[in-house]
Amino acid sequence: MRRHRNVKIVATLGPASSDYKMIRALFEAGADVFRLNMSHGTHDEQRARHAIIRQVEQDTGRPIGVLADLQGPKLRVGTFAGGAHDLEDGDSFRLDLDPTPGNGDRVQLPHPEIFAALEPGSTLLVNDGKIRLIVKTCGPDFANCTVVVGGTISNRKGVNVPDVVLPLAALSEKDRKDLEFACELGVDWLALSFVQRPEDVIEARALAKGRAAILSKIEKPAAVKAFDAILAVSDGIMVARGDLGVELPVHSVPPIQKQLVRSARAAAKPVIVATQMLESMIENPMPTRAEVSDVATAIYEGADAVMLSAESAAGKFPVEAVRTMDNVAMSVEKDPTYRSIIAASRVVRRETVADGIVSAAREIAEATNIKAIACFTQTGTTVGLVARERPQVPIIALTPLVQTARRIALTWGAHCVIVPEQQRFKGAVLSAVHAALTDGFAHEQDFIVVTAGVPFNVQGTTNILRVAPCDERLISKVDPG
Ligand code: PGA
Ligand code: MN
Repeated sequence: MRRHRNVKIVATLGPASSDYKMIRALFEAGADVFRLNMSHGTHDEQRARHAIIRQVEQDTGRPIGVLADLQGPKLRVGTFAGGAHDLEDGDSFRLDLDPTPGNGDRVQLPHPEIFAALEPGSTLLVNDGKIRLIVKTCGPDFANCTVVVGGTISNRKGVNVPDVVLPLAALSEKDRKDLEFACELGVDWLALSFVQRPEDVIEARALAKGRAAILSKIEKPAAVKAFDAILAVSDGIMVARGDLGVELPVHSVPPIQKQLVRSARAAAKPVIVATQMLESMIENPMPTRAEVSDVATAIYEGADAVMLSAESAAGKFPVEAVRTMDNVAMSVEKDPTYRSIIAASRVVRRETVADGIVSAAREIAEATNIKAIACFTQTGTTVGLVARERPQVPIIALTPLVQTARRIALTWGAHCVIVPEQQRFKGAVLSAVHAALTDGFAHEQDFIVVTAGVPFNVQGTTNILRVAPCDERLISKVDPG
């Protein structure tokens, strides 16, 4: 089984997508990575979803990535006596630490550290930015605000404080528990919400102890400012447009998306474009034209992956949403303009032997009639470099490590195949050819490019490039290696 596109699809699982039949259908429709959102659901529910993903993986013989998304320091108001209240423009509204259920005049905000950071004039945004409050006066346990834009406020609605770097730990108590749970479960990626500084990422990495790769969600103005430093210590990036579009003016999100995608591509680290991509499909079987165009834009930009949130987790048409992304991807990637945009935005970095080998592999493959680039990888780093080239031919990533194969599920263009540990180059070429033939990337008489590092099973040694005929007998005859 192979995909006929390069961009990857991440589908969030939730109440609408929790049984074997649905998760398998999502995979078959095109989901390459499943996201477990730790903001919702219990550990038992996440454990059950994880087990089903691994079952689908076993039944289909294809490595599947699992990404656990930690909630992070998400701020929420407390509860209301009546469940909800309408705030009118110009009203006064008080936030405080008192757990007594709120009313039309006040509600609890159970975060003393926020009150410490607020100043008169600070903006507070409630319910996805729909309600806007400005602080008039504040103290260590309260803030009296004016309602600038009103709306309905209800139980446990989210609060964003855009113009302050919050003195919050990167990982809450809940995040630490969720992180340990997810690592024990065996997820491949951990996504960190509301990252503000590189230290946040370093802290999570220390807790993960190599069990999962770390992906930073960029959704705070502070993270946009410190992006280069955050990228340097992360394994991947998510352009988390939901909270980003609350914390910053929505019209600033597209330029930021372009800049983050370009920088992550340059660093050879996977980048996901997320949130509201097919939002209307939560309710409808057909997307809007604008949504289709948004998915297409992310693909033209060269993002590694596009993501579904509520569309697949809680919507009425999860499979249709994945299928829509799959169709958009195939349509865009067939477009000659796509090729020229991708080529024009390619990052040329030639500093190491591996850089030289992957660029040569792409040039040879594109200049001649080569069907695929097969690359052997231990950690996935070499696949990242091949993917950075954004070659026109498919990438077959070969690794003996199942964890590496699953992580690479997020990487642009990488078709992962688990192969036995290699001892000699001849055997490696044979297994690459075998994978290319079996998975439908080449026919006999075709040629592929193979890259590898000899000696095998040593990290960071990519040093060989071979053009190999897809004829298993021929290789054993002519290849002295
Ligand atoms: P969330 O993150 O769905 O966990 O909030 C994504 C975003 O904010 O865009
Ligand atoms: Mn978010």
